Amino acid sequence: MRGADVGIVGGGLAGLALAALLAQDGRRVTVYERDELGGKLRRVQVGQHTFDTGPSLFTFPGVWRTLLARLNEADPLALRPLPGGLGVHSTPFGNVPLPVPLYHPLSPHWERYRSEVLTLRPHVETLLTMPPSLTSPAFLKASAALARVLGPHLTAQSWLRSRRFPPALHHALAVHALNAGLGPGQAGALYALLPALIADEVCRPAAGMGALLGALVGFCRARGVTLRPHTPVSDLRQVAHHSQLVSAIDPARLARLLKKSVPDAPLTVSGIAIYAALPDSSPLPATSVVTPDSYCDFAAAMSARALPPSTLALIHADGPRLALLLTAPPNGGEFALDHPWVQGQIQRVEQVLDVPGLLDSAQTAVLTPQFYVQGGAPGGAIYGQALAAWRSGPFHPQPYRVSRRLWQVGTGVHPGGGIPAVLGGAMIVAELMSKPGM
Ligand SMILES: Cc1cc2nc3c(=O)[nH]c(=O)nc-3n(C[C@H](O)[C@H](O)[C@H](O)COP(=O)(O)OP(=O)(O)OC[C@H]3O[C@@H](n4cnc5c(N)ncnc54)[C@H](O)[C@@H]3O)c2cc1C
Repeated sequence: MRGADVGIVGGGLAGLALAALLAQDGRRVTVYERDELGGKLRRVQVGQHTFDTGPSLFTFPGVWRTLLARLNEADPLALRPLPGGLGVHSTPFGNVPLPVPLYHPLSPHWERYRSEVLTLRPHVETLLTMPPSLTSPAFLKASAALARVLGPHLTAQSWLRSRRFPPALHHALAVHALNAGLGPGQAGALYALLPALIADEVCRPAAGMGALLGALVGFCRARGVTLRPHTPVSDLRQVAHHSQLVSAIDPARLARLLKKSVPDAPLTVSGIAIYAALPDSSPLPATSVVTPDSYCDFAAAMSARALPPSTLALIHADGPRLALLLTAPPNGGEFALDHPWVQGQIQRVEQVLDVPGLLDSAQTAVLTPQFYVQGGAPGGAIYGQALAAWRSGPFHPQPYRVSRRLWQVGTGVHPGGGIPAVLGGAMIVAELMSKPGM
């Protein structure tokens, strides 16, 4: 509906990307955001250093390039490969850098895995950016290519076992399922393919992840989008004057706005993000991943919304700047740095990475599940609510259209997807909304 007037509730990456696309298509668009624009991606100051919070790994840059092409924009981000790719994975069987470099003993196994999976990348990008349609040749071709590699395997564990990788590589590849809060035996088989699809392309804007937010805001402003930060929508009647509405907030929050009950679906993981300014540079590589001792115990704790004995930790180091993300249960908990579980996990990371006392003299800012609840999903679940089988970004039925006038985008519609699924989802919804009669 060209020229229509659209109100978007939620000014995170999803709401902003969709706003730019709809304005490009000739709509008048207003974005209502309860807080600062950016949602999970925002900026915190720690001592003399600024940190961009939330997403740290920019994956599937092809999805971003598709968005730029649809907006007729040059790339303002100057994306740079992340040194060391997905980082060094500390497993009980030894350290595994992903991607595995050529000189490494695991290199032949990695190359076998990579060559089998990598051809899928353009197909996965297609599936991330186009509406699912059983009558579209492009959609059918991409789905068929994916199905050929997945074979009869439903779970990441089943797919990985069938390839008989050495235990260290198997363990490092399987850890990516844990990002969905699932064990490899529960997570969709697609999770087993992710490291090959993203490891050699993982990147970050030269000026940091905040540049992504700056770019989306710039695209909106250039197209006349009205941006209303600090304007919470507490009742949909507030925005009823728009001819079309889009929810770019978590579906559970939307249910409350619609005065419907919130379904008690399982939740994805939350996190405790520690942004630290160290007195000196740390000796750590750009990215390290410390895996839990037991993937089963980890997954059981997440589904019970309890603290696992050992958790998945992602560590980014850049001189004296350090970001440590501890995967945490989605229980809305407030965890100060001196919380015994947090201290225990920090000590474990220090021990595994052999950097005793890493945070001892650091200045820190800590974001907790309680923080992610504000403006986000129940329990502070980073990727919202979803059944196990559906936690794989684009590959599940999408409730894009809630009613004739109301659409939805965002991370809760693509559980497990992150930036590519959020930007891709915006492109999908923009395309669906532009169809005649919509
Ligand atoms: C610690 C952490 C690490 C992550 N790491 C990665 C990563 O490495 N790579 C990756 O791709 N992804 C990562 N993600 C996920 C990624 O950040 C999210 O998928 C993405 O930012 C979600 O964008 P969104 O717009 O869907 O949702 P949000 O960012 O949650 O935006 C929703 C917005 O709606 C607003 N809102 C809510 N209610 C209302 C209301 N009633 N009225 C008005 N506004 C409202 C909120 O304030 C918020 O700004 C990470 C997330 C976290 C938290």
